[in-house]
Order: sequence, then structure tokens, then C-alpha cells
Amino acid sequence: MRLAETPCENPRFFAHGIKQMPARIIDGKAIAQQIRDDLAARIAAVREGLGRSPHLAIAIVGDDPASHVYVRNKLRTAEDSGMGVTLETLPGDSTLDETLAVVERFNMSAQIDGILVQSPLPAGMGRNAAQRVFDTIDPGKDVDGFSPISAGHLSQKRSGFAPCTPAGIIEMLDRERLAIEGARAVVIGRSDIVGKPMAMLLMHRNATVTVCHSRTRDLPGVAREADILVAAIGRAGLVTQDFVKPGAVVIDVGMNRVTDADEARQLLASQPKRLKLFERRGSVLVGDVHPNVAETAGALTPVPGGVGPLTIAMLMANTVRAAELRLSG
Ligand code: NAD
Repeated sequence: MRLAETPCENPRFFAHGIKQMPARIIDGKAIAQQIRDDLAARIAAVREGLGRSPHLAIAIVGDDPASHVYVRNKLRTAEDSGMGVTLETLPGDSTLDETLAVVERFNMSAQIDGILVQSPLPAGMGRNAAQRVFDTIDPGKDVDGFSPISAGHLSQKRSGFAPCTPAGIIEMLDRERLAIEGARAVVIGRSDIVGKPMAMLLMHRNATVTVCHSRTRDLPGVAREADILVAAIGRAGLVTQDFVKPGAVVIDVGMNRVTDADEARQLLASQPKRLKLFERRGSVLVGDVHPNVAETAGALTPVPGGVGPLTIAMLMANTVRAAELRLSG
């Protein structure tokens, strides 16, 4: 007798798929550590070849507290990985020209392999400021992958730097042995830094990709088709169980700080420890995916501790690669 293989043929799988089993929670921190461990030998080889460590330079403008926390995490991770770092802090009333001058200085330095300008830039710099900054970063040092040259290379599947968040998600799917080829993937969000490059990377890996956004009709219905669902929206808990096919892999990119007590109670009803944390601190970080999706999904990334650490690990990987290219070029 032939063994039943698909969920519909095998009643045990069917029961499993329907939601009796809670989702496997993917440990982004552990995978990020593996990625960094794998970089150690490459960092040592660069040190040997160039006579210095791979070097990441970051510029930050203004005093947005969240941005400063992100920058500190990136610098600390780079230093812990044995890499060199430079930090340039500009006052919030700096002009775009002053910011571009810092980027040009980083571009010219033979000691710097990777450049990152922390977003967002102060609103006073004008609407196109970020674009002008991305246009100015040397594509060979564009470890964030936001320049139009990097975006073009990604779109044409040529070698270059892919943005760290979507690149980290692909790395995580691979390391967790979650199949991409042939999967139906739905990406909610179409930003240049997450949604679009995510769709591109999934497509390059032979997933069948749909991109959704704020004007998508019947968003839950489209999302429910996904074997791999990526939420990159910026709306706390928007993705609820009715968006998720039983057993799907759900990747939560969102990072939303919730300060409203009712909203926190609604989102964290099943997570009493985190609710206590909210009551102590008055705010809590939550994703775009409602925590009760864990009852429907097959695998789920948590917030915090999911995609965030992977993003930083991929920034390290891109910086090491930039240094290797300098070594070989
Ligand atoms: P963005 O604001 O540039 O884009 C959001 C996208 O979501 C847009 O394309 C918009 O069309 C879509 N959208 C908005 N409301 C929607 C709705 N109601 N229904 C469907 N689609 C909707 O944001 P972004 O820069 O792509 O970031 C998205 C989220 O990911 C944010 O919470 C951000 O903080 C987080 N983020 C996390 C990391 C990380 O390392 N974990 C990195 C980057 C961004």
C-alpha cells in the first residue's frame, strides 16, 4: 500500500496542519549567532590579507533615541565580531550637504569597507534627503544595499549587496531548512528596504511571489494563499489568524512600540510575562503579526528575537564581503 504523503491524504498530518500543534518559534538570535560564528574565519583572512580588520562606518544625524539604540547595537555587534568601527554623529540641524560630505569622506577612506547612514534622517533635511544619501554612497561600500546601483543589481540577479533584513530572512529559511523553491510566498509591504527586495530574493529562489500593500483588496484572502507569509507593514498585530493558512511559515518583520494599555492587553493576552513588562515600563515592542497566529502557523518568528538580530548579522556579513572584495580587487 502506498504511504500517504500530503496533509490531505494523511489524517495525522491533516490534524497537525489544522492547528492542534502550536507553531515552531524560530530563534533568530541563535541563527544570527551561527551566521556570525561562520564569519570568524573570513574576518581573520581579511586581517591577514589587508593588515587590518573589516571596517564599518556609520553616520547618524540627530538624537532620535530609537535610532541611537539601533546604531549602538550594530557597532557593538561589529566590535564583538572583531571588526573595526567608525561612528560620526551629526547634530539634528545639520544640512544635507554636511551629511553628504561625511559620506564622501567615508567613500574616499581606504580604511573603510562598509558605510551605513542611519534612517530616518531629520525631516528638516527635505523629502529626497535619504535618496540623495543612497545615491552618494560608493556602491562597493553600500552594505545596507539601499543605493539604486545595489537595487538594480538585485533586480537583475547580479552580484551586489542585498538589503540586510530580506537577506537575513532568506538565510534563516535556509538554515531552518524551510523550502523556498515552488512555495507560494506573500509579502505584505512594498518598501524599497524590505518588501520589494524581499519579493525579489524570494522570486530569485523560485518562489511564486505576490506583493500586497495598503490598497490590496481582500488582504486576508490573499495572505491565506501563502506557504511563506512575510509581514513588513509597521502596524502592530495587523496579521491575525484569518490571514494564515494552517501550517504556513510566518515571518514577522514589524517593530512597533505599543504604549496604549488596551492595545497591549489585547495583543499580549497569551503572554503574561510580556504584559507584566509593559506594565512596568509603559511600552512594549510588538510585531505586525498577532501572537495568537502561533496557534495556526507551522513556524513563526517572534518579536523581539526574530528578524531583528538577523538583520544585524547580515550587516556584518555584507561588511566582511565588502572587505573581501577590496582584498581581491
Ligand atoms: P514602510 O512604512 O516603508 O512600508 C510599509 C508598507 O506596508 C508599505 O508598502 C504599505 O503599503 C504597507 N501597508 C501599510 N499599511 C498597510 C495595511 N493596512 N495593509 C497592507 N499593507 C499596508 O515600512 P518598512 O520600512 O518596510 O518597515 C516595515 C516594518 O518593518 C516597520 O515596523 C519597521 O520598523 C520594521 N522593520 C524591521 C526591521 C528589522 O530589522 N526587524 C528592519 C526594517 C524594518
